[in-house]
Amino acid sequence: MRGGLTRQLLSCLARPRGQVRPLYSFSESTRAPATVPFTKELFGVKRGPYAEVTSDDIQQLAALVDGRVETDKDDLLMHNTDWLRSLRGCSPCVVFPKTTAEVSAVLKYCSDRRLAVCPQGASTSLVGGSVPVFDEIIVSTAKMNEVIEVDTDGGTLTCGAGCSLDHLEHAAKNQHLFFPVDYTIREAQLGGIVAAGLWPDRARPATVLPDGTVLDSMSTMRKDNTGFDLKQIFVGSEGSLGIITKVAMACPSLPKHINVAMVYTDSFHKVLGIMRMTKAHLGELTSACEFMDNEAVMSVKKKYLSAWGVPSKPFYVLIETAGQCDMHDEEKLKTLFNALKDKELILDGQIGPLNYDDPTFVERLWNINTRILAALSRGGNVYHYDVSLPHDKQYKLVEKLRKELSGEILKVASFGHLLDSNLHLALQSHNFDPETSDELDRTITDYVTRAGGAVSAELGCGFRNRNLGAHCKDPVEVKLMRQMKQLLDPHGIMNPYKVFPDGA
Ligand SMILES: Cc1cc2nc3c(=O)[nH]c(=O)nc-3n(C[C@H](O)[C@H](O)[C@H](O)COP(=O)(O)OP(=O)(O)OC[C@H]3O[C@@H](n4cnc5c(N)ncnc54)[C@H](O)[C@@H]3O)c2cc1C
Repeated sequence: MRGGLTRQLLSCLARPRGQVRPLYSFSESTRAPATVPFTKELFGVKRGPYAEVTSDDIQQLAALVDGRVETDKDDLLMHNTDWLRSLRGCSPCVVFPKTTAEVSAVLKYCSDRRLAVCPQGASTSLVGGSVPVFDEIIVSTAKMNEVIEVDTDGGTLTCGAGCSLDHLEHAAKNQHLFFPVDYTIREAQLGGIVAAGLWPDRARPATVLPDGTVLDSMSTMRKDNTGFDLKQIFVGSEGSLGIITKVAMACPSLPKHINVAMVYTDSFHKVLGIMRMTKAHLGELTSACEFMDNEAVMSVKKKYLSAWGVPSKPFYVLIETAGQCDMHDEEKLKTLFNALKDKELILDGQIGPLNYDDPTFVERLWNINTRILAALSRGGNVYHYDVSLPHDKQYKLVEKLRKELSGEILKVASFGHLLDSNLHLALQSHNFDPETSDELDRTITDYVTRAGGAVSAELGCGFRNRNLGAHCKDPVEVKLMRQMKQLLDPHGIMNPYKVFPDGA
């Protein structure tokens, strides 16, 4: 996610009314879900000590949610398969509660019966957090999609966990508020976004604990310094401690003007120079500063933009401002652009505000950045890593991987949110291979740990990173996490095989 303001806002403003944004969806991947191997077999996972789901269980669960249970084979296949189409579980049912009370009844039932549960939002997790490994009951928040309240003066939006990003942005924008989360993936839901760890300082969730108890931390008051701040442990808990059913989000005012520049340069060293000058020139106006390398941009060009004249350059930086004063904001970006040229930090570039001659200008620039993963996953299997690293260590990792990896890897593309020290690595191969995956895990985790970074910057641990996350954490933190899990979920029913390392 890029910091601050969003591409979605830009496109809302730029797009003619009534034009529908194409959504990313499962169909972006070319692999048929039925051909995805079962996770339990591919990774040799041992099933936990949970009860087997019976047809009576399914009937009882259906009775708790007014019949909203899915058992159709084809639909189940979609709910059991992850977005990248590399993991597959075998849950026999998806339960669709509509209210917090229904979630509470479902979890109480599962807890009493010792049935394992997998919470699921839009299932766009890139770390396999949202799909079961065995036969966990999938509890979907898709039907909890109500906008409950918009408080314009207090700047808060209170919504059901199943509200999609599109829905949330629309609701906020109608009241001149700005929904502060930016994902390419428009169907991502509020519960999934918060559970995956976004905006801990802005989100106040209501959560159902595994035994059915409801914990309401939804005060819309910005300041509350009474006792422990318990809500924080659910932000980023990835469904391992309970199910978030509603969230009150703090939202800033909607910015009025967006300007974007895409600049080209020939070394990562200069990319960092561009970032420094961007911060110095634009300050708080900067809403994004994203870098992409040649492999990343050319992959998108090949899959989506063949007719569009994107030049092939070693590195690209996308800079965006979001502010309230059109002339002033545009002038500042132009001054930066000229200063970058004077300092010979850029080869060339394009610059334009929203009201540029071409109304699709901003959208097109962002489309390059946001379609990298989708473009690569159309061409084969993608091993995706999202790490935090000190800036000077980032591209050295990319170069190391290109140099050292076996012929199995066809392409190493990288892109990242410079202002957050966040680097995304997408390694493309023909097929998923567990040995290559292990080798990559080892190489990347070792490098990141030694550099003082984090092996998951924003995507969470889920299933894929469950054994990696603890490497870069203080052991005392890991121990405390385990103790909290034991306290809140003594039977371990919530999203097993995820977040915590195997055997923990
Ligand atoms: C093309 C693409 C781009 C992406 N870009 C970004 C990005 O820029 N930044 C970023 O951080 N992520 C990104 N993601 C990852 C993903 O979209 C986010 O993690 C998102 O927050 C997941 O929302 P979701 O509704 O799909 O949740 P899911 O994928 O359904 O679930 C995510 C995790 O949260 C748990 N969960 C879901 N709902 C609840 C709930 N109500 N209560 C408790 N636990 C719950 C699940 O069990 C799972 O562990 C991207 C994904 C794709 C496919």
